[in-house]
Amino acid sequence: MSGSVPTEDPLVRMYRDLKRAMAKDISQVKWAMVIDQAKCIGCHACAVACASENRLGPGVVYRPVMEQETGTYPNVGRRFLPRPCMQCENPPCVSVCPVTATYKNAQGVTVVDYNRCIGCRYCLTACPYGARCSDFGGFYTSKTAEEPGLVQGRYTARAYEQQNAPEYAKSWGQRGKGSPVGNARKCHFCLHRLEVGQLPSCVTSCVGRATYFGDRTDPGSLVSELMGSARAYTLKAELGTKPNVHYLA
Ligand code: SF4
Ligand code: SF4
Repeated sequence: MSGSVPTEDPLVRMYRDLKRAMAKDISQVKWAMVIDQAKCIGCHACAVACASENRLGPGVVYRPVMEQETGTYPNVGRRFLPRPCMQCENPPCVSVCPVTATYKNAQGVTVVDYNRCIGCRYCLTACPYGARCSDFGGFYTSKTAEEPGLVQGRYTARAYEQQNAPEYAKSWGQRGKGSPVGNARKCHFCLHRLEVGQLPSCVTSCVGRATYFGDRTDPGSLVSELMGSARAYTLKAELGTKPNVHYLA
């Protein structure tokens, strides 16, 4: 038989890495993400998977996929930059919060306590990466037509949009008490999935296998290996925020 032997899917290795991390004292684990720009094809599958996983409404985007033009005409190209929260080691968003609703958890993830957040949006302004959004409580289906006889019309689709958000391993209603509406929202590395041994939604949905995730304190993990690559860099390193999301140029 001709051809090369298929290499292991990186997801398989990342799940092995995750299992090792979950067996440790969890306070010793530090989560990190690596995004390979050479592999990202700009399909936005990660952005859609994230919105579906976290029940994000209009204007709430945890992981936009930005586009960059490269080169000079006629030798031009395009590359893509998925941009989740950087989970900064020195996060400017935390110190500005007047009610300590946002803080770093033991695994190095910057989290938001929806029960404390008063929606002042100071943190949105402080974040140098634009990684935070306000949830104004809208629905994508608000302006769509309801056609008689449609199986999946506005009202049935809205029932899907009204499902509770599973963030932070709780169940947040989309309206009223116990709701993220009115709060600041942001990427949290899918902590609720990690708790049950699943990788973040953007990682498992990435068709280009461009997103890697794991414990950066484990020298044998794929993320540790990639963070040591000569291609690795972080966004706005000059600010001293020390992101835990690294890119491969
Ligand atoms: S990227 Fe922005 S929201 Fe995320 S930790 Fe850093 S300053 Fe905070
Ligand atoms: S799913 Fe993967 S390939 Fe597609 S836009 Fe996101 S990071 Fe890029």
